[in-house]
Amino acid sequence: MKHITRPLPTITPDNEEFWRSTKAHAAKLQRCNVCAHFWYYPGPVCHHCGAQDWTWTPLSGVGTIYSYSVLERAKGNPYENDVPIAIVLVRLEEGPVIMSNLFDYGSTDLAIGAAVQMTYEDVNDEVTLAVFVPAHR
Ligand SMILES: [Zn+2]
Repeated sequence: MKHITRPLPTITPDNEEFWRSTKAHAAKLQRCNVCAHFWYYPGPVCHHCGAQDWTWTPLSGVGTIYSYSVLERAKGNPYENDVPIAIVLVRLEEGPVIMSNLFDYGSTDLAIGAAVQMTYEDVNDEVTLAVFVPAHR
């Protein structure tokens, strides 16, 4: 595992199952048992209908880039050791949009609508981040 200085998530009772699933390299999100919507960020009620009846459900890991930006300079902030870093909003096949990073991409891969695949970055003993790579890799 590499040394990482950028901010890491705070694990809470609402999101600990999500982070446990990324640690297992098998990401899950809550899926509503009433309206079948998935949502992100994890929380106690369905973001679509407000139901409190849901199930942690495995994700396909497939998505497309909804939007992106590349952080090129970060002098004096926690991303300083990581630049350039691609920050992406990925629309998952299941519906939710998740903010993450895209790694191992070429000059034509960072584009709105480009297909991406979830993978995992083991950061430390507590946190594994769900990150993305181009789907064709
Ligand atoms: Zn619902």
